[in-house]
Order: sequence, then C-alpha cells, then structure tokens
Amino acid sequence: MSLRLRDSLTRRLRTFEPVEPGRVRMYTCGPTVYDRAHIGNFRAFTWEDLLRRYLRFKGYDVEQVMNLTDVDDRTIAAARARGVPLSEVTDPVIQMFLEDWRTLGLEDPEHRPRATGHVPGMIRLIESLSARGLTYESEGSVYFAISRFPEYGRLAGIDPSALGVTGRAAGDEEYDKDDPRDFVLWKGGGGEASGTGAVWESPWGPGRPGWHLECSAMAMHYLGETLDIHAGGVDNLFPHHTNEIAQSEGATGKLFSRFWLHAEHLLVEGQKMSKSLGNCFTIPELVERGHAPSAIRYLLLSGHYRTQLNFTFDGLEASAKAVTRLHEFRRRLRAAIEAGSDASADLAALAATGRADFEQAMDDDLNVSEALSTMFGVVREANQALDACHPRAPSGSRAILQVLDAFDRVFGVLALRDRESADADESLEEWATMRVGERERARANREFARADAIRAELEARGVTVEDLAELTRLRVGSRTVLVPRPPR
Ligand code: AMP
Ligand code: ZN
Repeated sequence: MSLRLRDSLTRRLRTFEPVEPGRVRMYTCGPTVYDRAHIGNFRAFTWEDLLRRYLRFKGYDVEQVMNLTDVDDRTIAAARARGVPLSEVTDPVIQMFLEDWRTLGLEDPEHRPRATGHVPGMIRLIESLSARGLTYESEGSVYFAISRFPEYGRLAGIDPSALGVTGRAAGDEEYDKDDPRDFVLWKGGGGEASGTGAVWESPWGPGRPGWHLECSAMAMHYLGETLDIHAGGVDNLFPHHTNEIAQSEGATGKLFSRFWLHAEHLLVEGQKMSKSLGNCFTIPELVERGHAPSAIRYLLLSGHYRTQLNFTFDGLEASAKAVTRLHEFRRRLRAAIEAGSDASADLAALAATGRADFEQAMDDDLNVSEALSTMFGVVREANQALDACHPRAPSGSRAILQVLDAFDRVFGVLALRDRESADADESLEEWATMRVGERERARANREFARADAIRAELEARGVTVEDLAELTRLRVGSRTVLVPRPPR
C-alpha cells in the first residue's frame, strides 16, 4: 500500500515517493521564539509529528529539520521593548518550547537549527541569487525582484501582477523597494536592532537576514537542494513558503520541494485564537487546569489536518475518555493473556483487518478519523470476545495487542498515558510512604483509631497495606514498596 498526500503546489493528491528510496528529507517551519508557543502552533507541530511517525511506520528513514526562528521582527521587538540582548528573549522561550515538546511526547527532529547560527549561509544564498540577477540593493538592504522570477506565486495560486503587500511582508514597508511586491532578503542598517546584538556584517554593510531567507538557507544546508516534504501551517503558504520557493529555486534552478503540506488552523471554542479573547492557551496552562497531556495530544490529532480543528473543553474531556478507553482495553487484554488462552473465540482475523484498515486510512492523506474509527471498532469487537472468554483471552489476542502497538507508534497517546500513570503512581507512592510513617507513630502512641483511619485513607486511594513482621508492605499500582517499621 502506498501513501498518498495532498500537495499544495500541484493541488493534487499524489503518491508519495522520496528522491532517495527509503529516505525522507523533511523540513517543518519551527516557532518564532519571542513568546511561548500556543496550542495552535502545537496543532501544526503535533500533526507534523504524526506525519513523521507515519513515514517511519511505513519503513522510511526520516531526516527532519525544524528551525527555531530566533531573529526576526517579533523577536527583535521583544528584545527592544525589554532593553535586553536578543538571546535573553529567545533562550528561555526555546527552553519552554522544548519542555512543551516533551510534554506532548513529540519525537525530536534530527536537526533543530537556530537561525542566528546560520547567518553566513544566508549571506551566501543572497550572493547566489545576486549572481543570477534576481536581486537589487537599495540603501544597504537587498531585495528579491519578483518581476525577474516568472514562476513567482504558483504555490499560493496568485498572479504576481495582482499582488498587494500583506502579512509579515507588510513590515518591510519602511524599506526602500523598487516594487512594493518585492520582499527583503537582507535588512540593512540594523538601527532598530541596535542594543539587541541582532546585527551582522555583510557585503552590503551591517544588517540581518529576512525571515523567509532563513528557512531556505537552513533547509538546503541540512537537506540539500531538493527536499521531499516541506510542511507548515496554512498561514505559511503566503508569503513565507511562496518566497522560500522563489529564493531556493531562483538560486539553484532546481525544484525546492517535491511535496508541500499545510495544516489548517486551530480554533478555540469556535473562535480564532487571539490574545484579546484570552483563548491563546499554552500547554502548561491546560495542564495546570488538570488536563492530561495524552488528552491534549489526542485532541490535537483527532481532526484531519486539512480541516480547521475546533478546540473545546468538552472535546478535551471526550479525548481523555477516548484515551482511557484504549488504555483500559489494553490493560484488560494483557491481563486476559496472562490468565491463559481460550480457543472458543479467535481474534486473528479482526487483528488482520484492523491493521490493514488502519494503514489504508492513514495512507489516504492521513485520514485520522477513519483510522481512529477502525481502532475503536477493533476495541468494541475484541471487548465482546473478552467478555465471552472471561477471565481468559480469546486466541489471537496477542495479534490485537500488536495492532494497538502499531497504532500507538503513530499516535503516541498510550505511551504518554503510561507515563502519566507512572508519574501518578510515583507521587501516590511518596504520599503513601509518608502516611505509613504517621500510622506507625500513631500506633506507637497507642492512638489506634487514628492508625486505622490512616489505613482506611490509604486503601481508599487504592493502596493495599500489609503488616509483616518488621515491615509494612504497600502495593501502589504495579509497584511494591517496603517500609521498615521503626524500632519500638
Ligand atoms: P510561528 O511561531 O508564528 O512562526 O508559527 C509556528 C507554526 O505554527 C507555523 O507552522 C504556523 O503556521 C503554525 N500556526 C500558527 N498559528 C496557528 C493556529 N492557530 N493553528 C495552527 N497552526 C498555527
Ligand atoms: Zn519557515
């Protein structure tokens, strides 16, 4: 079975094949690190993680680059507003980003370059574009001349002659351009960046690279002139990716990326996210409100990437239930397998069709709704067979376990949920050990009613307490803890 992906450039569903058989080179636009990323950003990143995991599931080696935009108008504005060097803004934001990344169980890309670490390569890219006659200089800045690149705008489906100036390109207005449609490659002068350290020497005098240029230079540095996949959110289509194509193809004369993939935006309770509406949640804000990362991850992945995803608190609760359902099912299946096999029912055929249907759904441009409904269908049927064979497991149960494992290599929600249970067991264990100490002191003081109350409290939280000769044995989830009894 082969994977088909909807390419934004050709506007077609195409069979995916990398340049080099078995190996995928993928570039995903990373965060602009002026402030902590919100759940909208993480919709894009989590979907890219799903894509990466599914490519690996299909047997590809993936080499992924996700940049960190640590110099651009927004990071410089934040540094200036606080009167600090750029890195004092970006370093802590990068740390928060990595924390949230781990919270959601995202796989690390092979490369995570910072734009500020690649300025010489960016300068060289401008020089190649200049050698091909695609640039002009004006007052220390260098621009890309759109009129000299006839292919301009194909990705966004726009006719360059009809182009106005929108989006982040609008920030270039203070610069002196021949044509308002042109975009900046090198922002000369550095006056507004002074004091932040965001100024580099170049053949055109001091200045800094333009945002679009950063991604082109870093992508080609790590992955070569032609990538297999370039991905980001829909807002990147224009001008960012459109300009990346112009710069990269303008410099190399080669196709920049075989596939362009774009994820639709996340809405919160049906509304566009905005600071003024107070709905720009971050991952730790949701965790603080008691939502499990596995539920957040599930919700972010549960809608097709090319449709807008509506993030709601009801949806988050439903997601937590869905994850629990899968988790409980796997626990039940494992316990039944331990109890022995019962040949009166057989799940081998269910496992085979479940696995095939899952892959077929994901092969269809990552159709997660189909893939999830396949998984819940498997759970429903297998649960019925488990009821019939209780307490033992129907034959073929191990194959069902393998289907769940395959599913989770891609979705990564059960692994997160396991981690949450282990964390919960650990804190429960700490608390239980402390309470046992208090119970011992109560017993030593002959306060038996209090000692019994503590035991009841422990048992109410699922901790089993056994008094042995010189120890108290506690069972907390899957762990056993031995607490030595203090000498009387
Ligand atoms: P930025 O930090 O603005 O450069 O964005 C980082 C990534 O998040 C890009 O791929 C954006 O397209 C994506 N993104 C930004 N806002 C949203 C949103 N509301 N929903 C989904 N993705 C978004
Ligand atoms: Zn980018």
